[in-house]
Amino acid sequence: MIPSGLLFAIAAQVPSGPAPAAPPPAPPAPPYWQQRLRYEITATLDETRGTLGGAQRVVYFNNSPDTLYTFALHLYLNAFRPGSRWADADSAEGRRRFNDLRDPDYGYNRIGDVRIMGQAVAAAYPFAPDSTIARFLLPRPAAPGDSFAVELEWEARPSTLPRRQGRRGRHYDFAQWYPRVVAYDRYGWQEHPLYPAGEFYGDFGDFSVTLDLPEDQVVGATGVPVCGDPGWDRANRNPARRVELGREVYGPVTCDAGAPAAGRKRILWLARDVHHFALSMNPDYRYEGGRFGDVLVHVLYRPGDERSWGGGTAVRNTEEALSWLDGLFGPFPWPQITNVHRIEGGGTEFPMMVHNGSPGLGLILHEVGHNYLMGILANNEWKEGWLDEGFTSFQTSWYDEAHGRDGGYRALEWNMLRSDLDGWSEPASRAGEHFRDFSTYNSMIYDRGELFFHQLRAIVGDSAMRAILRTYYQRWKLKHVDEAAFREVAEEVSGRDLRALFGQWLHGTHLYDYAVGRVEVGRTDGRSGGQPEGSEYLTRVEVVRRAPGVFPVSVAVRSRGGDSARARLDGTAEREWVTLATRERPFEVELDPEIRSHDWNVLNNRKRRGLLGFRRAPRTMVYLDQFFSRPIRRDGFSVGMVPTIWYNDEGGVTLGARLRSDYLGRFEQNTGWLTLDTRRLAETDRPGIGMFLRVQNPVRFLRPRVSQSFEAFSVEGRRGLAAAAERDLTRHRTFGARRAVGIEARWLVTTNTRFLDPASWDAGGTVEASAWSRLAGRWGAWSVAGRISLGGGIEYRNRGEGLSTRDRYDAQAYFRGHGELRARRGLGASSGLSVRIFAGGLFSPDAALKQRQFFAAGADPYEQFGNPLLRSRGAVLARDGVHYLMPGGGGVRGLNPAVSAARMVAVGGELDRSVFTRNQGTWLRGIRVAAFTDWAIGDGDLPADARGAAIIGDAGVGLRLAHRIGDTFFTTRLDFPLYVSRPDLAVNAPERAIGARWVLSFTNER
Ligand SMILES: [Zn+2]
Repeated sequence: MIPSGLLFAIAAQVPSGPAPAAPPPAPPAPPYWQQRLRYEITATLDETRGTLGGAQRVVYFNNSPDTLYTFALHLYLNAFRPGSRWADADSAEGRRRFNDLRDPDYGYNRIGDVRIMGQAVAAAYPFAPDSTIARFLLPRPAAPGDSFAVELEWEARPSTLPRRQGRRGRHYDFAQWYPRVVAYDRYGWQEHPLYPAGEFYGDFGDFSVTLDLPEDQVVGATGVPVCGDPGWDRANRNPARRVELGREVYGPVTCDAGAPAAGRKRILWLARDVHHFALSMNPDYRYEGGRFGDVLVHVLYRPGDERSWGGGTAVRNTEEALSWLDGLFGPFPWPQITNVHRIEGGGTEFPMMVHNGSPGLGLILHEVGHNYLMGILANNEWKEGWLDEGFTSFQTSWYDEAHGRDGGYRALEWNMLRSDLDGWSEPASRAGEHFRDFSTYNSMIYDRGELFFHQLRAIVGDSAMRAILRTYYQRWKLKHVDEAAFREVAEEVSGRDLRALFGQWLHGTHLYDYAVGRVEVGRTDGRSGGQPEGSEYLTRVEVVRRAPGVFPVSVAVRSRGGDSARARLDGTAEREWVTLATRERPFEVELDPEIRSHDWNVLNNRKRRGLLGFRRAPRTMVYLDQFFSRPIRRDGFSVGMVPTIWYNDEGGVTLGARLRSDYLGRFEQNTGWLTLDTRRLAETDRPGIGMFLRVQNPVRFLRPRVSQSFEAFSVEGRRGLAAAAERDLTRHRTFGARRAVGIEARWLVTTNTRFLDPASWDAGGTVEASAWSRLAGRWGAWSVAGRISLGGGIEYRNRGEGLSTRDRYDAQAYFRGHGELRARRGLGASSGLSVRIFAGGLFSPDAALKQRQFFAAGADPYEQFGNPLLRSRGAVLARDGVHYLMPGGGGVRGLNPAVSAARMVAVGGELDRSVFTRNQGTWLRGIRVAAFTDWAIGDGDLPADARGAAIIGDAGVGLRLAHRIGDTFFTTRLDFPLYVSRPDLAVNAPERAIGARWVLSFTNER
């Protein structure tokens, strides 16, 4: 691959083209307004009850053009108790958490004695039984310009199971705690229950918070401790740096909070122009301070954090984040930022404060970034999560890129592409709880949101992107923002119409695909008129858009000698031509060489000149296939080549070569295999050439969550064709049952019986069609997987002369159905119980071909056919004395693998216990010992006594050895079926029921 920097360096010309005209001006928006609040809160911490409670007075300024008749409060801690919408949403997705908490572990937020405009009012809970919203009727309507006071008493208790808040011992993360006034904007009151998917939204205001706490508590908060002692001096771990409280930033304050009780203290915090007020306290907190310009940095960390958070690391990372964001957006408007080590992992953002689980720069950049993107540019987080999560993820990634590291664009883009191709993606613009599930919400809000900003930057360029960010900040800081506000700035600053980008990336999940169409090369007349000096070749390239997605697309033309030219099209046309001039004769045309347009199919992006003109030539990486791993690429084919060798009695040593291709780990997973039998080559004049071709998931058959395969083969005495399709019906990617249905048609005929083990194969052919359904999931303690298949066909054999024809066969129709159910549950920490049930029935007028019967010990011959070490007589795993068994069929592993029946029911059970595990290395990553017993009943080779069919079974012990090679996990299963009820049918030792027997299997279990 050519490094992209080099491409730009050698480009002979980079016509940028005029930017598309900005869209016509929209009708003037109504003037922006926002409500204003003034909170006065006094609160006392009761550590014996784990509660913070007190009184609150809010003065509400109605700056809206509307008359208000109601008023509402968010009581967020009520989400963290049984019966809330949050708790139920968690349970529905398999995360049972808050529904299982009992008193005193769950969180709550209770209010009482509510007085509005001086009159007592009663709360209604419009989303009951969820009580995260309390609504009140105003005693009198509040006209535009009115203000009124709300007074109430409240008590808050965080949950002991932390989620964005929590308590543990004497550590309290009061992320949500006071009754928070619901935001009112041009869409009305934004009353919204708290769900796992979706965060917060609030109106700006000023806070005056008086805390009454045990004297030894060390506290961090939104705001500035203007009176009283937050405990930082005593906790300070950097003696070289005096603690700066910054008490003076809001001007002179009179401290008259009154005297605290013995052993207690009172702290007055002030904060202006914030929409949320968070707290955290812990008597064991360590303090370190710093500053960026006028902004004070306070870090509170826990005992044991001295090496990770301490020594200035967290302070430096916070300062670094402030510095980067200052450069990107503009100056931080608040006097301080406090970064604390919270109880929970991860991180959550609040104005002037971040609660973090670790001190890494990436997390700090993300969360401090939210102070700009959520705190200062205050979007509605549950409605437009991409605007804060996607944006801050983007600026974090840009920081990495700007500092010479991988910003993660490629991995992110590829992941999103997989999600788009298989229909998992949903528009990023959805309200939080409208996403399919929490994991989809996360991936769309964070990753798709981040990609949107990368795509915007790719369209407008770095300097315009920086100008957009600065203008957006300048215009909208300390206000409510939304998509329209951001788009208006982006279009105005870039001078571009960005409707397609915003529409497609935020409101759709479009696929993008540009392809090189026709390519025509002409010569210039030698003069330079209109063309760059000295150019001689004019290459006309047709660019075809094959998917709805529209994105600017680069076109590159290159010569063999290193000459090149580039152009960029806006990508809107379904077909358009572009002409590029080069000095040297063009050899190659490529679209979007850096893959910035989210083009899903790059296999049609490149053409090269050959004898017959320009032909499609996708980028291709050839590697030596090591069987157990398969390198996959975003930019083209990967093709693995490997020589193969195996043995069977008829063909002797069989030499071969296999090719496997892949695109994206999803498409064109094709296999080609050619083999040569050396014995037949030596002994006959007809060389034994074998051929196997398989095409899987061709790009032209793209369907979300559907895979297709087509096979043609002529190998080791068998010939056939097959086609199959499977559709994944799984509803959620991260939880719930996996379901799929499929269909298959297969023709398989024997052509040379000398390759075949007559115990398992008759001469003859089948044409068969079947449909199947499979299901896997967890039910209680059991992991269950099942599969059922129904089908039928026609078999034919005994070719000979008919009455009126030269060729005729004995033919008959048959029906074939079978089902399998496997279940496993843990027994204690290291033991497990597995159960398997199998039932199969083959119905035909006369006895069917042996190879379509059900085999009591393991897989049937068609299932074994794909394995060259097993399919023919005398093959490595099919030799006498090698008791290899491919799992499947009846699963009575102590039986001779040729024992078969037309109708059979079998049950097996196994108890196992782990005696050794290690999660690294290749060989022997784990050892389990097992005891098993298997039983079957049926017709055919299975025994019958005078009363009919008789049951047959085995019992024994086994060893399971787990390995991993490359990306492949597999287990060697060694079974010792010491007891077989009918020893004459046993795999070996046919003399006695109890005998020394062994059977080897490989499975793909972990
Ligand atoms: Zn975030």
